[in-house]
Amino acid sequence: MTIAPYRIIVCFMVKAVFPGSFDPPTYGHLNIIERARTVFEEILVVVAVNRTKSSNFTAEERMAFMTELVSPWPNVSVHTYDALVVNFARAHHCSVLLRGVRSVQDFSYEFELSIMNKGLGPEIETFFMPTDPKYFVLRSSAIKELATFGGDVSSMVPPVVAKALERFFPI
Ligand code: ADP
Repeated sequence: MTIAPYRIIVCFMVKAVFPGSFDPPTYGHLNIIERARTVFEEILVVVAVNRTKSSNFTAEERMAFMTELVSPWPNVSVHTYDALVVNFARAHHCSVLLRGVRSVQDFSYEFELSIMNKGLGPEIETFFMPTDPKYFVLRSSAIKELATFGGDVSSMVPPVVAKALERFFPI
C-alpha cells in the first residue's frame, strides 16, 4: 500500500511523447492530451511528417492547429519529426510513448506498434490511454469524409479545424 504515492511522484517526473498524424486534430486527440498532461510532467505532441502516408493537411497546417489548440496548457509543446519516434523520444529525454485507444481494432494495431518500438528503444515504454466514451467514434479519416458531404463536424473538431475542413465541401 506504500507504493501508490511513490508511483505518483515518479509519474510526475516522466515526460511523454504523443505522436500522430493529427490530420486533422480532433476532440478525441485533445481529450487524450488534456487527461495525460495531469499524469505526466510534460507532453510533447509530435506531428508526424510521414513520407509513406499522404495527408490532406500539410505538416505546417497540422502543426499550426495543434500549437493553437494546446496553447492553454503550459506543460504541452508541439513538434514535428520525420524519422523514428523512438529516436525523437530519446533525444528529448522522454521515457513514455503515449497512444490513445478507441477500440479492440485500435488496440491490436497499437499493440504491434508498441512491440516494434520496444525493440527499437527498450528503455521507452508505451502507455495506452482509452478514449473517453464521448469520443470513441471520432476518426480523422471519417471526419474528412463527412466534411466532403457537407456534414456537421462541429461536435468532432474545434472551430479552427471545422473552418479549415470547409475546403473539402462540394463546390
Ligand atoms: P496515427 O498515429 O495512426 O496517424 P492519429 O493521428 O489518427 O493516428 O492519432 C494519434 C493517436 O491518437 C493514436 O494513438 C490514436 O489511436 C489516438 N486517437 C485518435 N483518435 C482518437 C480518439 N477519438 N480517442 C482516443 N484516441 C484517439
